[in-house]
Formats: sequence, C-alpha cells, structure tokens
Amino acid sequence: MRRGCISQGNILCDNCNQTIPYAGRYLTVEEKGSKETAEGGETKDYCVKCCLEKKYAEYREEKGERILTFFYEEKKLPQS
Ligand SMILES: [Zn+2]
Repeated sequence: MRRGCISQGNILCDNCNQTIPYAGRYLTVEEKGSKETAEGGETKDYCVKCCLEKKYAEYREEKGERILTFFYEEKKLPQS
C-alpha cells in the first residue's frame, strides 16, 4: 500500500536516512521483506529520490512542466 504525504520536517527516509524537508513530498509504503504488501507489513517512508530509484514514482511531462507522480495511490484520491 502506498500513500503520498507531505513532510512536517521530522520525517526520515528509511532508505537513505536523509531528512525530508518541511513541506517536501514523500511516500509511505507498506513493505514486508522489502516487497510491497497490501497489509501486515512495515510502514516505510521514502524521499522522492528513493521513490524514483525504487520505481514508486516518476516524472512526467505535462504541458511543458515536469510533474512528479507517485504511482497508484495518488490517482485514487478524489478530485477536489
Ligand atoms: Zn531517500
């Protein structure tokens, strides 16, 4: 399970151990044995750089802008 979040400035990336700066985006992923799982795993926080490395996110070009997309969960969020 994945969820895109906004850092309050006190989040550490579980992969590279760097602080995710205030208002920075990060992803929580539930993993079991370093594989993503729907439930019953450990919740890990990953910075954008590590999400890109792990293929949990990618940059897409939209109208000339580079937009960061977290896969799956973000698409399910209701449109406001
Ligand atoms: Zn990281």
